[in-house]
Formats: sequence, C-alpha cells, structure tokens
Amino acid sequence: MQRIDGAAIAAKVLEETKTRAESLRKEGLRPGLAVVLVGDDPASRAYVRSKDKKAADLGFHSVKKELPAATSQVDLLAIVAELNADPAVHGILVQSPPPAHINEAEIVRAIDPRKDVDGFHPVNVGKLAMDDPSGFVPCTPLGCLRLLTESGIETAGRKVVIVGRSLIVGKPLALLLMRKGPGGDATVTVAHSRSKNLADITRAADIVIAAIGRPHFLGSDHIREGAVVVDVGINRVDDPSSPKGYRLVGDVDYEAVVERCAAITPVPGGVGPMTIAMLMSNTVTAAERLRSATCI
Ligand code: NDP
Repeated sequence: MQRIDGAAIAAKVLEETKTRAESLRKEGLRPGLAVVLVGDDPASRAYVRSKDKKAADLGFHSVKKELPAATSQVDLLAIVAELNADPAVHGILVQSPPPAHINEAEIVRAIDPRKDVDGFHPVNVGKLAMDDPSGFVPCTPLGCLRLLTESGIETAGRKVVIVGRSLIVGKPLALLLMRKGPGGDATVTVAHSRSKNLADITRAADIVIAAIGRPHFLGSDHIREGAVVVDVGINRVDDPSSPKGYRLVGDVDYEAVVERCAAITPVPGGVGPMTIAMLMSNTVTAAERLRSATCI
C-alpha cells in the first residue's frame, strides 16, 4: 500500500514555483496575488491567511483585502475592477463562500480571465472543456491530478469514478481526466447524490475520487481490492480529545479501506496542501503569460 504524501508533493510544486518566480524577478517582474475575503467566517479567514502567507514566503507581491460582511455587491465589484487594473497583481481570488447577499457568479465573471487563478471564470471553464491550454484550471482538481502523476499512477485506459459533481472539484476533474494525453485518457464516471447503488459504481473503479463533503462516507463496501483512492473531502468532526475540540477527516473511512488500497491519500496531508501549491503555481503562470504576452 502506497500512502500518497500530499505535503511532500506540494513542497516539490512550491519549490518549482519559487524557481519560476525567481527567474521572473530577475527580469524585473514580481508575481502578484490578491486575495479578497468578505466577512469573518473562521475557516475562510484561515484559508486566506495561509494563502497570503504562502505567497509572501515565495516572494510574491501579496495583497490581502479583508472586507466587512456588509460589503455591497457594487463595492466588491469596484474592488475587483481595481485589482483587474493593477499591473502589480497577476492573480485574483475572492474567497468562497461570500455572504449570502453577494452574487458570487457575477463576482467571478467580473474577474479578468487572465487573472482568474482559481479557474472559475466561464472563459476558463470553457477553455478546459475545449482542451485549450491557455486557460486556468481550478487548483484542487489540478492538485489531484498532480498527486496521481507524481505517484506514478497511470490514468490511461483506467476506470475512474468521481463522487461529486461540483464546479470546484468533480466537474473540472472529470474534464481533466478524460483529456487526451498524459494524466488523461481515463474512462470517467461521475456519481452524485441522485446516483443509485453507489457502492456498485465505485467498486467497479480502478481509481475512486471522493469530493462529497460527508465524513467517512465511503467505506470498505465502496472500494475494491487494489483500487487507488483520492480523498478530497475536508470535514470537521467533534473530538473532545483534541485541543480545538474537533479534527479533520476525509470523505473516505481511511482506516476501513487502507489495507485494501493500492494507494490512498490521507486527510489531512493529501489533497489539501496541493490546492494551495497549485494556486501559487497558477499565479506564476499568470505572470509568465503577461511577460510573454501570450495571454487570451
Ligand atoms: P459540494 O457540496 O459543492 O459538492 C458535493 C458533491 O457531492 C455534490 O455533487 C453532491 O451531489 C455529492 N453528494 C452529496 N451527498 C452525496 C451522496 N449521499 N451520495 C453521492 N454524492 C453525494 O462540495 P465541494 O465539491 O465543494 O467539496 C467536496 C468536499 O471537498 C468537501 O468536503 C470540501 O470541504 C472538500 N474540498 C477540499 C478541498 C481541498 O483543498 N482539499 C478544496 C475544495 C473542497 P449533488 O450534486 O447531487 O448535490
């Protein structure tokens, strides 16, 4: 059984990203990332803090905008426009989810697609669907794919079942895995809450990717002997023995399936560290494209 070490692979991606950023800086271009947070959701605040810190560690120009929960749609659009126009900023992300009164889709559409390092703008979603490599691919699916390729796990001709069809994870990951070429060529099935007999579907898979948002939802009934498991889920469960009163677990019951897997990602320490590493990589890509003026 291979335990896929997301922290180690993320460290490798960050090292490569740092080298690319340094070579841009030698040409006088410092990659810039702007992260916008509206409201004070503690988990979102923690994500924004770690993105800002990672960007600073890599020597990026890092802009953190923390806005009150009552920020209006109009004011948020004005901030996005300001960042779009700022030549020192190459990547922009607005932390999800925003407060309920914000129309998130409109905010995403307002981001310049050349700066949309989250890959959620319709232009970038379309480019992914059309196999056009000039767009940006969402960070979590990109991270999942990199975990597989770095671990020497072949995808060509293999049956992959993704449980979850969100725009952030399941759907873009399916598009990536069905592309022609290295890291693609898989036979992909996407399951969701309306799928019937889920265990029959996942048991047929060589590779199971869980992006559900339900703690320990997939157990030994769902995973066949020798399968590869990628667990995207991050769920808080109560744990009085932990100083925080909770701990993080995946969508897969790790202990129940680990012995039957050929390879598996743990939670934490699997997909999580990859997401932030791919965000940094996408930001340097945005800066590189600006330099070589090969953007959209
Ligand atoms: P969403 O809630 O947007 O999507 C969840 C998906 O799971 C939906 O497609 C839903 O189906 C499906 N689902 C829900 N219940 C069932 C069920 N009983 N059987 C089968 N499918 C079901 O979540 P996200 O995609 O945003 O996130 C998924 C998980 O990944 C979460 O735990 C999240 O915290 C984590 N995550 C981790 C990241 C990381 O960096 N590691 C980044 C992003 C997310 P339906 O469409 O029918 O409702």
